[in-house]
Amino acid sequence: MLNQLVAEPSISSTTADIDRSNLRVVEHLANWLDDLGFATELMPLPDRPDKANLIATLGANGKSHPGGLVLAGHTDTVPVDEALWQSDPFQLKDKDQRFYGLGSCDMKGFFPVALQAAAAFADKTLSSPLTIVATSDEESSMAGARYLVESGRPKADYAIIGEPTGLQPIYAHKGVSMMSVTVHGAAGHSSDPSLGNNALDTMHSVMGALMVFREELAHQHQHPGFTVQVPTLNLGCMRAGDNPNRICGHAELQIDLRLLPGMDSDAVHRQLEQRCQEAAAGSNTHLTVSTAYPPVPPFESPADGDLTVTLSKLSGHAPGTVAFGTEAHFLQTLGMQTAVWGPGSIDQAHQPNEYLEHAHIQPAIDTLQQIISRYCQA
Ligand SMILES: [Zn+2]
Repeated sequence: MLNQLVAEPSISSTTADIDRSNLRVVEHLANWLDDLGFATELMPLPDRPDKANLIATLGANGKSHPGGLVLAGHTDTVPVDEALWQSDPFQLKDKDQRFYGLGSCDMKGFFPVALQAAAAFADKTLSSPLTIVATSDEESSMAGARYLVESGRPKADYAIIGEPTGLQPIYAHKGVSMMSVTVHGAAGHSSDPSLGNNALDTMHSVMGALMVFREELAHQHQHPGFTVQVPTLNLGCMRAGDNPNRICGHAELQIDLRLLPGMDSDAVHRQLEQRCQEAAAGSNTHLTVSTAYPPVPPFESPADGDLTVTLSKLSGHAPGTVAFGTEAHFLQTLGMQTAVWGPGSIDQAHQPNEYLEHAHIQPAIDTLQQIISRYCQA
């Protein structure tokens, strides 16, 4: 199964010419889940017929909110830099007790594990349904998960997102926003500053204001559950001007903002924009702040919730937090107690020669079978 999933390119990207459909991946999953007796439904995204979520349910018996468990994952991968791979990223390679391939760890590998666990229940009576959800576009816009929330589905009591956590249950992560601050000035000959409006001069003030804002956020917000206990604001990339002897007419700064659970992304974005506008005021340049996508909201569920505690006991790993974003907020919004837990390590995600180690696979299947039994056979 993993070989077939890896062989179907399903890159999602903000760059349109490398963005690919995920339909072949969800179709494979739907076929296999059909064979196990699941009721399967493909949900094409509005305006994107080449992208779809899959919802597959076993044992629902027509009930609209019958409780039960969701096992969720995303079907897309990040883009690939083939020159850095030692093997074909779209051909699963079994070597050194590892499965190498693009998406093997993040996170196509979770689906065969979930299906193998589910297969043990195919001919059993479930008191509450088992639902497997496969989303599109997690690595770019999270459009698939956002569409689930818009559709109000699926409904269940518990959800596990099988992102690679090394089988450690994750009860919280930071939110992630990627923002762009653009200053539009006017170019002119460098010999006379009055011939233009220097965008870099304005950007210098804006960067100072952002660094002050960062300090304030760190003083106001801390969370002891995280290795980096404060929200972060990274000045990551700047493009500006064209020549030393021209007044800089245009500057763009890209920043990454990671907020703690409990912080309101929209409110912080508004404050950030206000600080930038104040810094640019009186400069005769024009400033705009934009986001490529809506932010990935922070996520936190109680560390002593039944799902997290049960996963912790079964896997032998204490609950923890991570610094990467997932779809957890969206499943939580649908009313599910949610944990992030899965095979593979995030250290291998988004890397050349990504792999899933064999050692995680059977323990993951065993744990999922006990979880399914607990929440669907009570
Ligand atoms: Zn992932």
